[in-house]
Amino acid sequence: RDPMEECVMIVEQFRKICCTSADVLNLLVNDLVSSMEAGLKTKDSKNSPKMLPSFVENLPNGSEKGSYFALDLGGTNFRILHVELGGRKAKVVKQEVEECSIPEKLKIATGRELFDFIAEKLSTFVRKTHGSTLSNHDWHHHQRKELQLGFTFSFPVDQKSIDGGSLLEWTKGFKCDGVIGENVVQLLEEALARNGLEMKVNVLINDTVGTLAAGRYLYDNTIIAIILGTGTNSAYIESSAALRLKLDESQLPKSTTTVINTEWSYFWSPYLPVTDIDMELLHESPLPGQQQYEKLISGMYLGEIVRRVLQKLQRQSGVFGKSVLSNLANPHSLDARTMSVMHEDESCGLQKVAKVLEENFDIVGTSLELRRLVQTVCDVVCQRAGRLAAVGIVAMLKKIGWDQASTTITIAVDGGLYEHYKKFRGYLFDAMRELLGEKVAENISIVLCKDGSGIGAALLAASHS
Ligand code: ADP
Ligand code: MG
Repeated sequence: RDPMEECVMIVEQFRKICCTSADVLNLLVNDLVSSMEAGLKTKDSKNSPKMLPSFVENLPNGSEKGSYFALDLGGTNFRILHVELGGRKAKVVKQEVEECSIPEKLKIATGRELFDFIAEKLSTFVRKTHGSTLSNHDWHHHQRKELQLGFTFSFPVDQKSIDGGSLLEWTKGFKCDGVIGENVVQLLEEALARNGLEMKVNVLINDTVGTLAAGRYLYDNTIIAIILGTGTNSAYIESSAALRLKLDESQLPKSTTTVINTEWSYFWSPYLPVTDIDMELLHESPLPGQQQYEKLISGMYLGEIVRRVLQKLQRQSGVFGKSVLSNLANPHSLDARTMSVMHEDESCGLQKVAKVLEENFDIVGTSLELRRLVQTVCDVVCQRAGRLAAVGIVAMLKKIGWDQASTTITIAVDGGLYEHYKKFRGYLFDAMRELLGEKVAENISIVLCKDGSGIGAALLAASHS
């Protein structure tokens, strides 16, 4: 058969299996609601949301005052923030953010190396933004009294209180020795001490919890937060009593409500539309066989799915040319950002698609028809991801009984995938309207809380100081 025809058939078949009809999505919503319910009752869950209590006692209400720092670690970038809070009317008076990408080799170094890197960056930042006017002696004195920090650490953590917790397992490609089972706040404080910085770590939170706090600070009807970045996750407000079967009486949060970090990346359901390519990725990525939901949705994996489809096209038909010595065989050689460039290419000759194929994979001289097909692959993968993300949001609304409500609520979202990938957002919104109906959907305001995960840590450091 003609290679192009062969490819069209492969993509057509892929598209069929990726189908996310409203029926399938509704089944998934119900499955996700029940697995969240189940997760609230059990200590160990492998292929369902972990539903981890965060022990947040006070969400910020806008009256917080003072100067706070935050660290946000959990994926592609590492951020350091400083905020000055002015209380009721003034809100955030000043905000400084520094972002650096985490070198790949640090993600697989020792825990000590990772935490030393963080501490060193923080130490430079603090001295620059805060201590430059003080003498060394005053600086030392000042530190101990003044410097308070919220730490956003976006990996599954077992917490017994808000100011610490031990790492359950690494995700998103991190694999640093000597951290699993350890209190990450202690590791951070030790690293800070090695760097001559004395800071009080008031709170340890997940990025979802931070985003919820940041959303709440701005809009007091915020009750859900979603992360759509390198990974995906969510948080919401739950009554503490719902944890009676999961926690011993003595461990239950003291407050009547608490924030739950769902860790929904672990969600699995037989209704998830997965192809053989997704199954391969599931088993050939961090935590093999686990986190199926995240591996269909999040920024770390979308480009990789597309790459695997293109690789299959090449293997079965040689459509990209016989002599392609290509990078196409290298895992993660196509990221979500580059995928979105191809997907959102509106030029008539699909010049951007051609450019990405050439620059990333040394593939030249593609026909317009082939470029269109590559764009279709991006579209299928993005559409499925956006619609499955909507399943998550609708399941959260259903879990808290808001899917029928007529009052308005706010959902805070943070993450580069949601922020930058317009077509992804479009598919997400479409599916939400399909699942909830126009009327209910209109009452839900989804707001981007850029850097909410980090700002929220500073806000919670304030509300728990
Ligand atoms: P994290 O906090 O987890 O490090 P971010 O919220 O900074 O992640 O989001 C970074 C991720 O967002 C990247 O890994 C990438 O997958 C995705 N992303 C960034 N820009 C784009 C884009 N233009 N299109 C699609 N995805 C993007
Ligand atoms: Mg983040």
